[in-house]
Amino acid sequence: MSKQLYELGEQPPLGQVPEKMHAWLVRQERFGKPTEAFQKEVVNTPSIADDEVLVYVMAAGINYNNVWAALGIPVNVIAARNKGGEPEDFHIGGSDASGIVYAVGKDVANVKVGDEVVMHCGQYNRNCSWVKKGGDPMYSPSFKIWGYETNYGSFAQFSRVQAQQCMPKPKHMNWEEAASYTLVAATAWRMLHGWGESSIKKGDVALIWGGAGGLGSMAIQIAKAVGATSVAMVSGEDKFDYCMKLGAKGCINRNEFDHWGMLPHWKDNAGYAKWLKGVRSFGAKIWEVLGEKRAPNIVFEHPGESTIPSSIFVCETGGMVVVCAGTTGYNATVDLRYLWMRQKRLQGSHFANTVQANEMNQLALAGKLDPCMSRAFTYEELPLAHQLMHDNKHPHGNMSVLIGAPQFGLGASAPAPVEMVHPTLPKGDVHTTPAPYPMSVPLPSIADAGGLTIADDGSKVRDLMHAGIISCTPDDTVGTVAKIMVDHEIHAVVVMDGQGTALGVVSQTDMVLARQGRTPEEARQLKAREVMTPGCASCDADMLLSEAVTLLTARRMHRLVVTEREKPIGVLSMTDVVRKIIGS
Ligand code: NAP
Repeated sequence: MSKQLYELGEQPPLGQVPEKMHAWLVRQERFGKPTEAFQKEVVNTPSIADDEVLVYVMAAGINYNNVWAALGIPVNVIAARNKGGEPEDFHIGGSDASGIVYAVGKDVANVKVGDEVVMHCGQYNRNCSWVKKGGDPMYSPSFKIWGYETNYGSFAQFSRVQAQQCMPKPKHMNWEEAASYTLVAATAWRMLHGWGESSIKKGDVALIWGGAGGLGSMAIQIAKAVGATSVAMVSGEDKFDYCMKLGAKGCINRNEFDHWGMLPHWKDNAGYAKWLKGVRSFGAKIWEVLGEKRAPNIVFEHPGESTIPSSIFVCETGGMVVVCAGTTGYNATVDLRYLWMRQKRLQGSHFANTVQANEMNQLALAGKLDPCMSRAFTYEELPLAHQLMHDNKHPHGNMSVLIGAPQFGLGASAPAPVEMVHPTLPKGDVHTTPAPYPMSVPLPSIADAGGLTIADDGSKVRDLMHAGIISCTPDDTVGTVAKIMVDHEIHAVVVMDGQGTALGVVSQTDMVLARQGRTPEEARQLKAREVMTPGCASCDADMLLSEAVTLLTARRMHRLVVTEREKPIGVLSMTDVVRKIIGS
């Protein structure tokens, strides 16, 4: 007779599923810092559907997703599930695991009770029409991240998974190592192998951002396995050895360069030239590391905003920049000339499908993928592990926590198929990466547009604008415009045609850009129409102030010409907005 509840570390007889289980739970009333949000409780062991499997969890991987789940932002995962009809008022997280199959649904054929498995975190509805037609489950509207978007993840004695998530556990790894690599390694696999003719090939060069990080350490090994050469980007020379032992040909310290960030304006001759100088010396460094003048066929991207301009520039003609995150920001700037003229591809990628996760796992089973586990925690330390992540005090690499395994180091049942060095990160390695965006959040779509609520106090542009326009003609010279600016102590002059229509604005920024690469005399002779920001930097006096602010910030402008029946009547400046929203 099976007991009703087993203590942690006391493994139930194979196949006997107790009614209750120990688990770490997050509840809505304690959303907040992980050390408070995660609490130990005893709950009912979940039942399984026909295509599902119940796994006795030996160890679980730690990922940032469950820091977000504990905080309850940006999504309250419990409320989201309740809205979808699921009754549980708690969340059991955990999107990586190793364990033993204890029960299978009647349609399950790929695993049986007693199998030692690792799980990937991609779930989808097998009856979804897209999936039934043979479509990639990663594009299915039913796709969910197990243990973040779904309940009954791996932070409990038993976890409920779909059979397709189960993959054989590498016999040479212990439980905690086996629980640590799947999420990052499968993501890196799809990024490098999932994109048809742009996918990585033998002989290719790959540039890998964050080579010593979770994804990057996997990408270096995946590139090595296919016979490609990789160059790893890191933030210090102390990480070179780590990346080289994983298989990188060489490394670059990103702190040797300072051209990172959004692209300068393309009209900014001097700024653009400086950026080009920086990015070209970065390209030359790649050649130096490779020992030949070759550009990367594939760039493995996740920092995003600060590195995308360089990644696109250095990528080989016809090559691909593949991106799965925007850790430094989401507004990637692209000089389209390099994208279209050199026919490069900027490809988004997210986690991996069942086939890709299993292809990745073949590498792990063959002993050719070091899990790069940097720290393992006890069951009691699960909230602490998440708190360290939350506070950015955790080491790089992959982390895991014991669940059913009573001690560290258990579970390996065979020698490694091939000998492998296990590189270690530099002593005192400090994590400095900004908090990443959750792996899956409902991004607003066309269908959501009607449901979005916008907080607004109803102020109109006319309530705040400065009435009256100081203008010039399109044929006035920049010298004349400068005099108008100085005489009236204003920051911008509106360019009006003979019919009183505003054609554009010459701002101080436009004047400065006009001077770039020209002598003062050459700049003074330019015409207002040649340097102005044309056309649409205007808004109607009856526009909501909030909409005008969106116009200003999206276009990174400081003022708008205010029109009434298409005739200019005033100016709204950022100064006016600041006065209104902050007060003065
Ligand atoms: P990680 O272990 O924290 O590694 C990120 C690496 O980025 C760090 O090692 C750091 O290396 C580098 N980095 C930090 N700031 C940088 C900057 N300003 N410029 C260039 N490099 C910088 O994280 P990870 O597990 O590899 O994940 C990386 C991102 O991918 C995260 O945002 C994560 O949420 C996301 N992700 C997405 C998916 C998906 O399916 N979409 C799956 C997994 C992860 P150095 O300081 O040494 O350069």
